[in-house]
Amino acid sequence: MPAHAPRFHTSILIGLGALGCAGEPGQPFIAAYQDGKVAALSFTFDDGHRTHLATAALLDQHGLRATFYPVTSWTSDARDAGDRSKITWPEWKDLAARGHEIGNHSASHPDLRKCDDAALERECVASANLITAKVGIAPRSFAYPFCKSDDRSRRLVLANHLAARGYFPLYENDFPAAKANAQVDDAIAKGAWMTWLSHGINDVVFNEHLTHVAEKAKSAGLWVAPFGLVAAYRQERDQAKLTVIERTANSIRLTLTLSPEMPATRWNIPLTVTIPTRSPLSEATVNDPVPPATARIDGDRIQVTLVPDGRTVSVSWR
Ligand SMILES: [Zn+2]
Repeated sequence: MPAHAPRFHTSILIGLGALGCAGEPGQPFIAAYQDGKVAALSFTFDDGHRTHLATAALLDQHGLRATFYPVTSWTSDARDAGDRSKITWPEWKDLAARGHEIGNHSASHPDLRKCDDAALERECVASANLITAKVGIAPRSFAYPFCKSDDRSRRLVLANHLAARGYFPLYENDFPAAKANAQVDDAIAKGAWMTWLSHGINDVVFNEHLTHVAEKAKSAGLWVAPFGLVAAYRQERDQAKLTVIERTANSIRLTLTLSPEMPATRWNIPLTVTIPTRSPLSEATVNDPVPPATARIDGDRIQVTLVPDGRTVSVSWR
């Protein structure tokens, strides 16, 4: 396991300085996480073992979504062909329809650093195309086999996926829920993005952990979301430009734009703009000609979530 592996991604809380101005409406800022959440957690499961079907069912019961990384050459259309210990294509398609991310974990699980150009193309590009064809959704993220990569493989992977996952803390087998819960609480306290890497977890301890995680999602502003979604949000967030066209005591007009290097065909995850206001608020309305921008009252703030496509959005409140 590489010594440089980060335990947590650190997050950047943009514009926090504006929040301390009592009585003065603060400046709007792009939220660190979607919907103004304070921290993020991603569950990732590698290699497509059939035990992941029960794992996904547990996640569904708690209303949570995760990322699963199949290896395409280990995946069959039906269980009477290929590797019977692995999840099939129709099952992956079903998991995707339930909101889970089906990422890419290569075609045959090689050490990408040892692949020639043709093999690298097969492992990183043809595999992504096959997942798109079989699942109906292009894989947003890629997990490096053995968590190993080099400049050449990273370049090709990131030209064909929005994000890639390397090594993260292992969360497997009988990992105690209390220990997992404490690590998640620590991530929330730090405003961090935490990712678990797993090949399979005991259903009983996982259910206990998910009970804690679901409670934190409701009460503590924890964003539990697939790896590719959080990664794409953060990249857009760091590149987006927020322009305030007009601001009054109870309204704002703004635009959110990405640089031309981030085309809307690829980069279209809704970002959240946090608007600090005077409390208490009873109503917030977003006037947006193109759905689905939304506005949510969050204490003395409004969380406006919209695709960063340069349109002008008006928000008013009282
Ligand atoms: Zn693997």
